[in-house]
Amino acid sequence: MKIKNALLLTLFTVFNVTGQKTPETPVNIILMIGDGMGLSQITAGMYSNGNKTALEEFEYIGLSKTHSSENLVTDSAASGTAFACGKKTMNGVLGMDINNNKLSSILEICKSRGYLTGLISTSSIVHATPASFYANVRSRHQYEDIALQLSENNIDYFIGGGEKHFKKRNDKYFIRNKIITLNAAYGSKLYSNKLGFFFNNEMDDFLYDGRKPQLDEALLATLDKFDQREKPFFIMVEGSQIDWGGHANEIDYITSEFKDFDGAISVAVNYVNANPNTLLIVTADHETGGLAITFGKTKAYTFKSDFNTGGHSATMVPVFSYGTCAKKFSGIYENTAIFDKMLETVERK
Ligand SMILES: [Zn+2]
Repeated sequence: MKIKNALLLTLFTVFNVTGQKTPETPVNIILMIGDGMGLSQITAGMYSNGNKTALEEFEYIGLSKTHSSENLVTDSAASGTAFACGKKTMNGVLGMDINNNKLSSILEICKSRGYLTGLISTSSIVHATPASFYANVRSRHQYEDIALQLSENNIDYFIGGGEKHFKKRNDKYFIRNKIITLNAAYGSKLYSNKLGFFFNNEMDDFLYDGRKPQLDEALLATLDKFDQREKPFFIMVEGSQIDWGGHANEIDYITSEFKDFDGAISVAVNYVNANPNTLLIVTADHETGGLAITFGKTKAYTFKSDFNTGGHSATMVPVFSYGTCAKKFSGIYENTAIFDKMLETVERK
């Protein structure tokens, strides 16, 4: 009798009164990570942009504790693993826990549930933050192993730098059969189930010097590709070089990279407005540089800034959320909770 009731309940949930099937629509997730983007970086970027940022649109704001398993000051590998896989690990480790167990990432979990998956980064695609979503290695510097693991992963679409790790390898293995490199315009109507696009032909990381903002175009192209296929998706977008500006203690580098990232945030906000069944999260893996704004004038929003370190700092970082299930992300929590909350969203809990 109990079983019969459970069955009836299931039938009622799956069918509405007209008898049409109404499965719960899976939620799209766009996770945006500003590497090294603490509150001071956001503030500096905002004032440099005439006191405006797309982050002002967001409904819910939280704070995340960024420490790794052993260190209060994390690196991008441990913090990437925390978001991607939900476990604290040692600095330098990707996709593995403190006991060397391989972890499944939210991207892989989404993939197993029929999602399309994409990674976009303004650094090499084998760099720590994007790699934490598909690689399982003891050291973030095992670039050739990481490239091989990307080629073996079922990621549908990626855009980033680092082509050399796929072509000019010490093991002479040329990774091409599983990844199609598309050195064509983003808007190309070329259609494939698996696409990789490298930002540059120079095969190096895509450096800041005088480059135009590109993250917005890259995200638009990815959303366009995924919309054509009419499936739910998970996309991770990294504004990688906000961190590099912090390491270099160069405020102009930080603000120009923030502006690029902010443009992509606008694209994502517009997408959520048009497609409400989407969760958008914008956060950072850690702060870089110990940046502070120490003086400034409201006229033209000019300011002076100072750095405390050429490395990362342990300050908590903000988490901005928008769209479906955004409310889950208010409060103060460990960075691993970002994984937990995304998983809850995917599982519709
Ligand atoms: Zn860094």
